[in-house]
Amino acid sequence: MQLLEERIRKDGKVFPGNILKVDSFLNHQIDVRLLDQIGEEFLRLFAADRIDKILTIEASGIGIACITAQHFGVPVVFAKKTQTKNIAADVYTAKVESFTHGKVYDIIVSKEFLHPGERILLIDDFLAKGQALLGLIQLVRSAGAIPVGAGIAIEKGFQEGGELVRQTGIHLESLAIVESMGGDGSICFRH
Ligand code: 5GP
Repeated sequence: MQLLEERIRKDGKVFPGNILKVDSFLNHQIDVRLLDQIGEEFLRLFAADRIDKILTIEASGIGIACITAQHFGVPVVFAKKTQTKNIAADVYTAKVESFTHGKVYDIIVSKEFLHPGERILLIDDFLAKGQALLGLIQLVRSAGAIPVGAGIAIEKGFQEGGELVRQTGIHLESLAIVESMGGDGSICFRH
């Protein structure tokens, strides 16, 4: 998506440890117009997939997921991150290793909001090592629902997540795939 690539080039900041900061339009301050165009693009890409519900993970996926859901006319559910040892019986759960925080946490979704047979579109801001998305896929499957597709704003193509998620066979669409990031702040995209 050219508009997103241009914005990343203009306002994205490269940090040590292969971190791309997009705090001025996606992760802290939010450009709602851009998110609206992202949502429209996801609708175009997943229109044939008969989506019943959108699932994301707190916190940074929620904004994109909500605006995307408006385009699809479906509800949004976000998985909550928790470190509680005793997981309640009325939730679906999966383990996720955080790339940015370097720890393992549980993600939970109440059984009230995810049902067998539902066709789920997963939405997130970043795809890096793939752990967040793989955790969501596992959680959806444990509910007997169907992880039909995954819509990602920014995939870091030099990390393994894209490959791992594509291997699961789900329909993955990343709107901007970063091929490489230089120490001088330069960013190259895959086309
Ligand atoms: P993964 O599980 O694919 O390794 O990482 C996905 C999550 O880590 C995303 O939801 C995002 O919040 C965070 N993340 C991974 N890499 C980056 C990055 O370069 N920049 C930012 N801002 N977040 C990232």
